[in-house]
Amino acid sequence: MYLIMERTFVLIKPDAVKRGLMGEIISRFEKTGLKIVALKMLVPTKEQAMQFYPSDTDWLVTVANKSLSVYKQLGLDPKKDFGTEDPVEIGKIIKGWLAEFLASGPCVAIVIEGNRSIEVVRKIVGATRPYEASPGTIRGDFSTDSPELANILKRPLRNLVHASDSKENAEKEIKFWFKDNEIIEYKRSDENIIYGL
Ligand code: ADP
Repeated sequence: MYLIMERTFVLIKPDAVKRGLMGEIISRFEKTGLKIVALKMLVPTKEQAMQFYPSDTDWLVTVANKSLSVYKQLGLDPKKDFGTEDPVEIGKIIKGWLAEFLASGPCVAIVIEGNRSIEVVRKIVGATRPYEASPGTIRGDFSTDSPELANILKRPLRNLVHASDSKENAEKEIKFWFKDNEIIEYKRSDENIIYGL
């Protein structure tokens, strides 16, 4: 019996690749029983990276708020680092840094398949802001980065990995990086045991 289960998209970012963490990161996904069904190393163009991340106001504000809440907590002035307090403008600035960062070096694009893969992969990856990501997660184990440090240095959070956050985005993101024939269907030897097929 062969089952095609939920698929999700992961991008290992240049900070992780350059730190030699590719294997460690991939193995954390594999060990849960999730299956790698597509994988390639690439250096995205800045334009590709800009297209990959959303540009809707909601997303820009969500990203900006990941800084603004910390700035508020620490009594820091966002105008100093961003030149504005407008969340949409701040979101655009961060998106620009992010696109430049992805285009600055090697990334690994991966499609991962398995039961509840979207949710499970997000859990393995951990919270966006590494200083608050739980130990045991990729971001929590391999980074301490935080917005006030990243933003003063005019760069995105170095949090090692991107992972799709919903079924709709997973489908979009897989299509964005992979052709249908680059996704390989095969059976892992432990699938019968993992899933009780
Ligand atoms: P996630 O990657 O956890 O889904 P988002 O989609 O909100 O998080 O943000 C996309 C990426 O943008 C993050 O992984 C991170 O690298 C970067 N980022 C998000 N918010 C900020 C911020 N406030 N300052 C710097 N970089 C940020």
